[in-house]
Amino acid sequence: MRRFNHFDASSIEEAVSLLQEYKDASYVIAGGSDLMGCLKDNLWMEYPKAIINLKTIPGLNEINVEEDGLHIGPLVTLTELSECAPVKETWPGLAEAARRTASPLLRNMGTVAGNICQENRCWYYRYPDKIGGRIDCVRKGGKRCLAVPGDHRFHSIFGAVKKCIAVNPSDTAPAFVALDATIKTSKREIAIDEFFSAENGAGSTILEHDEIVTEIFVPRPQAGSASAFMKIAYRKSIDFAIVNCAASITVTDGKISAARICLNGVHNNPRRCETSEEALIGKLLSEELAAEAGELAVAEAKPLFQNIHKVQMSKTIVADTLMECAN
Ligand SMILES: Cc1cc2nc3c(=O)[nH]c(=O)nc-3n(C[C@H](O)[C@H](O)[C@H](O)COP(=O)(O)OP(=O)(O)OC[C@H]3O[C@@H](n4cnc5c(N)ncnc54)[C@H](O)[C@@H]3O)c2cc1C
Ligand code: SF4
Repeated sequence: MRRFNHFDASSIEEAVSLLQEYKDASYVIAGGSDLMGCLKDNLWMEYPKAIINLKTIPGLNEINVEEDGLHIGPLVTLTELSECAPVKETWPGLAEAARRTASPLLRNMGTVAGNICQENRCWYYRYPDKIGGRIDCVRKGGKRCLAVPGDHRFHSIFGAVKKCIAVNPSDTAPAFVALDATIKTSKREIAIDEFFSAENGAGSTILEHDEIVTEIFVPRPQAGSASAFMKIAYRKSIDFAIVNCAASITVTDGKISAARICLNGVHNNPRRCETSEEALIGKLLSEELAAEAGELAVAEAKPLFQNIHKVQMSKTIVADTLMECAN
């Protein structure tokens, strides 16, 4: 790592003003479990001159359950979220997504805002430049993607964004999409469906450089609703998802009246399965219907040579997550 200035911010306003002062050469840090790796491996085109610590700002690590829903502070850790009794009871898909993220130590450090703002994990992108020289792929300002002709077994099965086929690695992101969350920032409120954007270059969200997540709001589910999260990874104890899925369904008079399904690890952005959702409405949830929703979720998939297996995994995980909602 190289030298940089480290600031302990005492308020969101101070953190924003430091981001404005240091411009692109500055980043906020929460748990640091992603950011420190990015610094060590020298991922970004400009090495940061300022790292701004958000953990010194009071009041950002609270979970408040109110009548309208769940208000999650950006510094709430993944452990706190996964162990919060009202979250487990009312938003089980979210609690499970937080519980299945990384390892216990990383969940103790990692925050919920850091989890949805983390960088992608493409192994060419993350390749440490100290070993054998820097790999400048498209996402690092170079001309070509190394993963397309190289090893892309964990990459996108739904095509590229700006020639990049890296996938969004977050486990909580699909749960927030399935639960129709809103991201509150120092500037505005962003519907979760608008929040993720691999178009933005290095980052994976539409956040502007001087914009900080100040709360994640999850509405209270309607009566008759259930949510679930499932993940396929090589190791259960610690691993990014090969594919993960979150779903939320509402049943009225025995039939599905609302549904939101989100796959992740399959494209640059978390992918809502809208045709699958539509196919469920007005019907009774059954294994056959869940399997049909799984088929529809991958109807537009364009897998590459080495990642065809992710299509079958996606089909299965959508069906299984829906059946888990029923349980
Ligand atoms: C070995 C390993 C395994 C992992 N496994 C998984 C896994 O299975 N699933 C998974 O989802 N993740 C996994 N991760 C990633 C890790 O869980 C996330 O990186 C973690 O949640 C990030 O939170 P953090 O607080 O440490 O973020 P930081 O590292 O502090 O920040 C991450 C990014 O978010 C930005 N940021 C942080 N807070 C804010 C805010 N309030 N507003 C705006 N921007 C913000 C930072 O500037 C930075 O760019 C793994 C990481 C490691 C190292
Ligand atoms: S998939 Fe994206 S991040 Fe990975 S090598 Fe290709 S351009 Fe770079």
